[in-house]
This record gives sequence, C-alpha cells and structure tokens, in this order.
Amino acid sequence: MTSGSSSDAARAIPAPIFRKGLALKHEVAEQLASDYHSALIDQVRADDYQWRHGRLRLHLATEFGFCYGVDRAVDYAYQTRRRFPDRSIYLTGEIIHNPQVNHRLRAAGIRFLSDPDADADRLGTGDVVILPAFGVTISMLAQLQRQGCTLVDTTCGSVLNVWKNVLQYARDGYTAIIHGKVRHEETQATASQVFQYPGGRSLVVLDREEADLVCDFIRKGGDANAFMARFSNAVSPNFDPVRDLERVGLANQTTMLMSESLAIGDMVLQAMLDRYGSANLDAHYRAFDTICSATQDRQDAVTVLLERHDLDLMIVIGGYNSSNTKNLARLADRRVTTYHIADASCLVSAGDIRHRPVDGTTPPTSLSAEETLSSDWLPDGTLAVGLTAGASTPDSVVGQVIERLGQFAESGASE
Ligand code: SF4
Repeated sequence: MTSGSSSDAARAIPAPIFRKGLALKHEVAEQLASDYHSALIDQVRADDYQWRHGRLRLHLATEFGFCYGVDRAVDYAYQTRRRFPDRSIYLTGEIIHNPQVNHRLRAAGIRFLSDPDADADRLGTGDVVILPAFGVTISMLAQLQRQGCTLVDTTCGSVLNVWKNVLQYARDGYTAIIHGKVRHEETQATASQVFQYPGGRSLVVLDREEADLVCDFIRKGGDANAFMARFSNAVSPNFDPVRDLERVGLANQTTMLMSESLAIGDMVLQAMLDRYGSANLDAHYRAFDTICSATQDRQDAVTVLLERHDLDLMIVIGGYNSSNTKNLARLADRRVTTYHIADASCLVSAGDIRHRPVDGTTPPTSLSAEETLSSDWLPDGTLAVGLTAGASTPDSVVGQVIERLGQFAESGASE
C-alpha cells in the first residue's frame, strides 16, 4: 500500500475516477472469453436451451448467468489490471458474489480490502481501487477520494437508479424504506445515500414479516422503544419511528424477489392509505420501480421453465452469498425439489450432492454453516432436470455443471 499523507489529502488535483472503463475492452476480450466462455453453453442455447444426453433431458432457463452489470464490472477489473500492471490494485470487497471470479482476480494480484490483513486507511495516491457492481457507501467513497486513490467505478446503472430515487426521497423529506438485507453491500451503499441530505433517513426491511411490523406502527403507532429494539441495526442514526414513518418512499435491493418487493410496497401503501386517506397519500407515500430488469428476467425465466416442463429437480448455480441466486432457488423450490450449488464440484456423485439448503438452515450434521450433503438426489430412469444460474455465475461454471450431469446420466442408473 502507498501510505496516504497530509500532503496527499491537501493536494489540489482530484484523484482520477474511471467510470466508463479504461479503453482496453478489445485487449482483454480474449482473456475474458478464455476464463468464462463455454462452447457447450453456446450449443445448448442454439438447441433451444435443451440438452439430451443418455437418460438426461436438461432444460436451461432462457435467462441465466452474468447480467449486464456483472459483465461490465468483471470487464473493467480485467482492464484495470492491464492498464496498471505495476500498481497495487484493490477491490473494496468481492467484485461480485461468485467464488470463481473472485479467485481469478486474486490470482491476477488484485487484493481485497475486506481481507482481515487489509487496511483502507493506508491506501494512498499510488493505489488503484475498484468499486464493485453493487457500489460502496458514500463514506467509503469519500475516504478513498480523500486519500487520493485512483478509482475504477463499476457500480451498475440499475443500482445508480435506485440511489437516484433514494436521494430524491431524502431531499424531499421522505424516509427511504429499502426492501433488502441489512448486511448486503448494495443495501448498505443504498442506505448511505440519504446522508447526502441533512435529516435523510432510511429503514431496511427484510421481508413481509418485518414489513408487517412497520405497517402496524404506521397505522396505530405504538412502543417506539420496542420498534427500535427490533430495527436498531436496520435504521439510520437517530431514527425516530413516530417522526420518520410519517413520510416514506419505497426502494429495494436490486436482487430481491420481485414478487416480495411488490408485495411489501403494496403493504406499506395500504398502511399509508389507512392512516392518512387517499386524498393525502402523495404527501406521505412514494414509490418508483427500482427492480433491476436482469434480476426480473432471470426470475421470470425460472417461472416459465417450471410451467413448460415437468421436472424431476432443479439446480441453481451461484455463490452461497449471492442474493439473486438464493432468490432464484426459493422461487424454484416452491414447485420442485431444488438444489443450490456453488459449482460442479458440488455434484459429488450420482448419489451425493453438496448444496446450500434453500431456506438457509443447515442441520447440525451439515458440512459447514451454509452447506449440507444430501444423498439419493438423482432419481433413476429418465431424468428431467431444470437449470439456471445467478447473475454472477459465468457460463464456464454452468457448462462444467452440465458436463458433470452428463457423466452421471451415462452410468449407474436404469432407463
Ligand atoms: S443484478 Fe442487476 S443491479 Fe445487480 S449488477 Fe446485475 S444488472 Fe446490475
């Protein structure tokens, strides 16, 4: 790290910030293709998203894997390495929630500020920092700029759209209610936007159960201390539910389940109608469509896949900390037995599979806090398997999973 100094902080020229890549797209294209492309996936796409092999009929969702935001972020990271071969390059954390992609970036010498031995305070003018697709908090951005780091901003346009709306809420005196996960980087970055205006407030709501509590308070008021005890980690500083739930605007983490985001929006809308009446609604409630189209397309494709095909099981591929992957698995699991796996190595054999339980709860005998082992997962005889992958999963990983499934379909089971 290049230590920052007071002269760094005082310099007159702002640190460079690259927001549209580094003009090296063509130069890194071959490397990206070699790392993440899959000829098998091209073939499956060309064959109407189906693949037959032995006793296996595989149906691939028509929208899956890398979204435009992830594609761009990974591209910019490769460009950054090419542009600054001799400088220290850091990511504020995982660029996306995919272990294979993060591993490759580490192998290219890019370090992670989220690692225990990393220290953002020691960065200075010689250092380059890549901001991930889900963005960073305004305090982190301000610190890196203060320290004079060269920044490569890969924040996705869909996330910026959410921020724009949250900023308008804060400017106009509305509390941003964000449907999301408190500890997810994107939700933290989104919630931090309200601090750009004095008095800006935010509240993060995880699910309908939490939304119900908020709606109750909007309708009837209640014990503010009990409310704060429940939401202490999910609100901006000095939050006062009596004052700050009078005027609210809805937003969401872009990777949440669309149906839940819409349902929570409707719940809050109804609570506001009950409390203030329709004539006064505009003064108390706002909502914009901040659902990311890539997330929605992937969820819609799973729904169509499940409607069109009679599946024995569904496999969803993606990092165990990937919010959009978890939601794809939840969606599929409502209709058919679903396994959320990280990569092809999870397909241990035709008898055993390592996977993240869809509801996130692992039994005590599990392999780890997030992964368990299931047996007898692959039925005998003709087999119809549905497949999709989260927005941060490269085609190469999806292709490896299909190849492995094909191996199991060749042997060991009756027709
Ligand atoms: S999931 Fe949506 S918001 Fe997130 S990076 Fe992809 S396109 Fe952007």
